[in-house]
Amino acid sequence: MDIYNDVGCIKGIGPKTKDTLNKCGIYSILDLLLYFPRDYEMVSYAKNSSEFAEGEKVIVKCIVKSIERDQRTKNNKVVSTIVFAAGDKLLYGKWFNQPFIKNKFKINNEYLIMGKIKYIKNYAVITSPVELKNNPVSQDNIIPKYSLKGSLTNKLMFNLISEALNQIKITENLPEWIVRKYKFCTLDEAIRNVHRPQNRDDLNKGLQRLKFQELFAYSMKILVLKDFINKNKHGIPFKIAPELKDFKDNLPFQLTNAQTRVVREILIDEKKPASMNRLVQGDVGSGKTIIALIAIFNIIKNGYQAAFMAPTEILANQHYEEAKKLLEKFDVKVKLLTGSVSAKNKERIKNEIKNGEIDLLIGTHAIIEDNVEFDNLGIVVTDEQHRFGVLQRNKLFNKGNNMDVLVMTATPIPRTLALFLYGDLDISIIDELPPGRQKIDTYYIDEDDKERVYNFAVSQINEGRQIYVVCPLVEENEELQLSSVETLYNEVKEQYFKDISVEMLHGKMSPKVKDEIMQRFKKGEVKVLVSTTVIEVGVNVPNASVMIIENAERFGLAQLHQLRGRVGRGEYKSYCILIAKIKSEITKKRMEIMQNSNDGFYIAEQDLRIRGTGEMFGYRQSGDNGLVLADLVEDINLLKDANIEAQRLINSENDDDIRIKNEIMKKLEESTKYICFN
Ligand code: ADP
Ligand code: MG
Repeated sequence: MDIYNDVGCIKGIGPKTKDTLNKCGIYSILDLLLYFPRDYEMVSYAKNSSEFAEGEKVIVKCIVKSIERDQRTKNNKVVSTIVFAAGDKLLYGKWFNQPFIKNKFKINNEYLIMGKIKYIKNYAVITSPVELKNNPVSQDNIIPKYSLKGSLTNKLMFNLISEALNQIKITENLPEWIVRKYKFCTLDEAIRNVHRPQNRDDLNKGLQRLKFQELFAYSMKILVLKDFINKNKHGIPFKIAPELKDFKDNLPFQLTNAQTRVVREILIDEKKPASMNRLVQGDVGSGKTIIALIAIFNIIKNGYQAAFMAPTEILANQHYEEAKKLLEKFDVKVKLLTGSVSAKNKERIKNEIKNGEIDLLIGTHAIIEDNVEFDNLGIVVTDEQHRFGVLQRNKLFNKGNNMDVLVMTATPIPRTLALFLYGDLDISIIDELPPGRQKIDTYYIDEDDKERVYNFAVSQINEGRQIYVVCPLVEENEELQLSSVETLYNEVKEQYFKDISVEMLHGKMSPKVKDEIMQRFKKGEVKVLVSTTVIEVGVNVPNASVMIIENAERFGLAQLHQLRGRVGRGEYKSYCILIAKIKSEITKKRMEIMQNSNDGFYIAEQDLRIRGTGEMFGYRQSGDNGLVLADLVEDINLLKDANIEAQRLINSENDDDIRIKNEIMKKLEESTKYICFN
């Protein structure tokens, strides 16, 4: 058997099982082996019943002392009880509605049973114990728990994987010097340890090796991408356009020191004969848009075109309005290309882009995928908030060879982590907000006190302000999401905002309808906007003064911080109110962090500390960068090692290393799987 064989070749897999496995993304034996347990259950082997502890799962050898008569509970269940002797203590096995179970046991015979210990009036009891035919091990037993779908059972997964492990020996694929240096177990051992750990030590060893493997592959990808970019940096050496000074002098405000510094960094990049690949990190409201427009303006005045991409149509619209206001008087032709543009207009715009009649094209990320052809594209700016990964960015580089790329993100990430996550980019940080920004007062409040919150909102509306109400994204299911917005909309409309104009906004609406509602909200015709997180990204309504977030405990703190940034954009005192189910200390702590700080970087760091990366971004990053076991924050030291060794391997001129490197690169290209077998 080969790891690339179809999983169907394992005996015991019928068409139905195969179908279910496919649904879990398991097609080959390799996929099956990479389907790691989601968790483990610890089972102790008890030689003597005095070792029993409440709540512990045990395997115990015992003798049947007596079989009691069945009894009935109050709610009419049949209870069968068998009394076992385990060492010098008694152990009661109890089964519900399984009267025939008694036939399986004979008095004075010895059995091996497994189950969770519970003490009832000083008697040790196991409910529904399982009889084992033979003892798996004579020491602590760790049982893997697999994620299950459809008709899959843990037992089936266990057996299939055992079968695969029996028939396969996995070849080592890291250079020998790395395995030796870090005293890693072999890849074969690691896979076995993770699926069939004999003890905790082995499990940890296996996990460590596999996490390293993921981070190593991740580092290789980034280094190769960086290398590729550097080799292909035949950028255009733009000049500082004479019009730039005039443009900067005409801005409606003075740039902050941080903005000035970042603009300078960008202009230096633009002048270089190599193409720019720069990331601008800045908290919500730190003024990234204007930086993008300055970068763009200079390129356009060099006689080239620019593309500015936003993550949503609403935001693309907003950038468009801003760009028109600032750029058109300097004779720059700006056009918007989104899903709501009619087919006819789309064709026209595409033609104008191709002919070079349009200087700046603004749209959603779709414009890079659509077959838009530019006449001479000089710069692409992408306002990615937190939705893009290293690998998707790769697409950009394939669009034009020489253009500059500027990526803007509002997800504040500690610098060390950013270096890895955005390893392919140079980084600029805007660490200062424009002057006169008011602190947004933030409060968290228990669900039961909701009424107070909405009464306060009404009083703000009476003073002329507007309100956002955000309900959480319910899983990734649009139907559920829709119903959650509708429910909340009806509830608040009925109970609190009877004579007030309320609208809702959600992902299932057509972009046109969304935009109409947004425009009416901007104009102040709509007072309350009940929405999913579609408003999360950068909308600007200075008159909005209250942000209410329902089920705030379900959001990542970075996300809450972004949402909060929607208010406090004008002259009015603004508030963010987090309605939460405060069930745990952690939730409380997280809400307190929000209440006490307005600093995105600080918040992100605290959130990282409490919850890890996946949560911080509000979604699992795994799909993005192939990390399943490893966590970029928890395993940061391992990541550093992996990065160093990947660099070493790439630079090595040793024949063996070159061979391994080529094999890894080939595998990385062929497959999105992070582990490469050879
Ligand atoms: P973000 O970084 O979240 O994208 P924006 O670019 O949307 O922030 O800027 C937020 C608001 O601050 C906008 O209304 C913008 O016009 C304003 N702004 C940006 N820079 C300055 C500045 N230096 N002084 C005053 N206001 C500014
Ligand atoms: Mg923005």
